[in-house]
Amino acid sequence: MKRIFQAFTTTACILVVLSLIAAFAKNNESEQSTHGIAVANIDRSVVPGDDFYNYANGAWIQRTEIPPDRSGVGVFSRLGDLTNKRLADLIAELAKSNPAAGSSARQIADLYNSYMEEAAIDSQGLKPVNSHLDAIRAIRDKHELAHALGETLRADVDALNNTNFHTSNLFGLWTAPGFNDSDHYAAYLLQGGIELPDREYYLADNQHMKDIRAAYQKHVSAMLKLAGFDQTDDRASRIVELEHSIAEKHISLADNDDIHKANNTWKQADFTAKAPGLDWAEYFRGGGLEKQQEFTVWQPTAFTGESALVASVPLETWKDWLAFHLIEDYAEFLPKALADEKFDFFGKTLSGTPQQRPRWQRGVFVVDGFLGDAVGKIYAQRYFSPQAKKQAQEMVANLVAAFHKRIDALPWMAAATKAEAHAKLGTLYVGIGYPEHWHDYSGYEVKAGDIFGNIWRGNLFEYHRQVNRLGANVDRQEWSMSPQTVNAVNLPLQNALNFPAAILQPPFFDPKAPAAVNYGAIGSVIGHEISHTFDSEGSAFDSKGRVRNWWTDTDLQHFESATAALAAQYDTYKPFPDLAVNGKQTLAEDIADVAGISAAYDGYRASLGGKPAPSQNGFTGDQQFFIAFGQNWGSKVRDAALRRQVMTDGHAPGRYRAATVRNIDAWYSAFNVKPGEKLYLDPPNRVKIW
Ligand SMILES: [Zn+2]
Repeated sequence: MKRIFQAFTTTACILVVLSLIAAFAKNNESEQSTHGIAVANIDRSVVPGDDFYNYANGAWIQRTEIPPDRSGVGVFSRLGDLTNKRLADLIAELAKSNPAAGSSARQIADLYNSYMEEAAIDSQGLKPVNSHLDAIRAIRDKHELAHALGETLRADVDALNNTNFHTSNLFGLWTAPGFNDSDHYAAYLLQGGIELPDREYYLADNQHMKDIRAAYQKHVSAMLKLAGFDQTDDRASRIVELEHSIAEKHISLADNDDIHKANNTWKQADFTAKAPGLDWAEYFRGGGLEKQQEFTVWQPTAFTGESALVASVPLETWKDWLAFHLIEDYAEFLPKALADEKFDFFGKTLSGTPQQRPRWQRGVFVVDGFLGDAVGKIYAQRYFSPQAKKQAQEMVANLVAAFHKRIDALPWMAAATKAEAHAKLGTLYVGIGYPEHWHDYSGYEVKAGDIFGNIWRGNLFEYHRQVNRLGANVDRQEWSMSPQTVNAVNLPLQNALNFPAAILQPPFFDPKAPAAVNYGAIGSVIGHEISHTFDSEGSAFDSKGRVRNWWTDTDLQHFESATAALAAQYDTYKPFPDLAVNGKQTLAEDIADVAGISAAYDGYRASLGGKPAPSQNGFTGDQQFFIAFGQNWGSKVRDAALRRQVMTDGHAPGRYRAATVRNIDAWYSAFNVKPGEKLYLDPPNRVKIW
């Protein structure tokens, strides 16, 4: 939610394709050689006021085909390709250097190689997973089931930073500064238990979703069969029915955004009374959390509902559910038949992607996921110069100054509210390129030739790292993205921003490009992240990251009516005849886009120092600014993936994000937009928030 962008995911992986890297590099080169907007991507036959997204990107869209192993492509994935190629070279270099045992280079090499040894993985068959399956078979009663469910708990969700509300385990743990004590790490528990991406996949009453559900049930049966189970159709039917019941207890993604609904402190002893059914003492023992006294329960009704299901649904169904989830979640690290069956459903059916990505690229992703800082440290040294860091820091300073001015100029905001908003900007930590200190992986045991064990231990290592810091002092400068991530993030409970090295490169950031272009591209991204400090969620936290209402009633009323108008604007966007954007679900991101481009525009004008903006390729400075912004969102996405995005993502599809220029007065004069053109809004209907 707080990120600038949600990658086109197949399962949970963001991966690249080798054959395209050359093509992308070439494409980037031709765009970079002009050090400005990508003129060749513009479709001049489109009237900017009718469809700004296709005006800025139409020619690129027409000449671009989505590769068979992708669910979509765009600026973010192109930069991702470049970064992953660099990481692959770096990993190969480390592997060749025969690194010393115990070094992080050795960990990287062993993890990567253990993933690449496909024949060895095949020849082991189900051996790595059998002891876990035997443990599930041995569960005798609901007491032992509760312990086993607790043992599956992982730190695999993130409510406010990288925003991931999905875990297939019964529940998920997130550790972060406490809502009510932001100086110490607290334990947040989130709903879970389903494999499909969101409750809507189980509950939506339309043909598309009915077809997906039918295909899913077949997939569950196929996976069980490959793992040696009998009566797999019957088992699959019961598992899917159980997941359906769990989905009914889940709250929607739009409701997950409401901090005040999420701020529920339950003592460990409260769970039995508030959510009877599951043997909670045994569950927490299984998860190694028996000493943790307090939890923030994000979705209380889901906990009550899911716990009741543990009591009411037969033990054998729960054991099948556990076994299926284990096989499904680790399928990529098991024999090819299982990995292929999983891709068949999640890649092809769910995202419309015909082909798996090459294995080496998935191997890079595995290393990135489990040893992100270890490779990130080398990546940042090699690809992010002190000069780039300095320039990016200057832009951030200009953007922060622009926000201060905008706050001062708000006619509707009370002086006390303004003071706290200034204070929030004043204490904001802005990380540029790479973290101040790196994660230590020395406790993570990586073994040659043991990919299943490496992944299993990697997930546990991260879980223990998070559990062990509960109650400890918060590190406000901790990063939640690696330097090689093409993205940016706002961390509201730390009042902090991360801009990784990998997004601070062309076309987002090019030291040789005109200011108009850098401000329109990366400036609007920086402004977007800063403004999350003040969006529908960020405005719930004060300058110390505490949950506190620092708004007057009148201010809050103004904010809520302005944001409601923006939600209504996005509700009108319909990518499919039967599916519209949910303006409430995307609201925080939509606010950030409007605020981000507004502040970036101010920063850009200020950077001119009173001089006229230089024209380039026949485009005025203002035109370049807005086109650069529109080109951030150029992308091509398969229908299945686009549907998934609309249903499960807090970000609206790129075409609508580009269209938010209709809320900015300067865009109208830059392109001479007139009443009657499709994006035209009367001045009172243009949403202005910050
Ligand atoms: Zn965002």
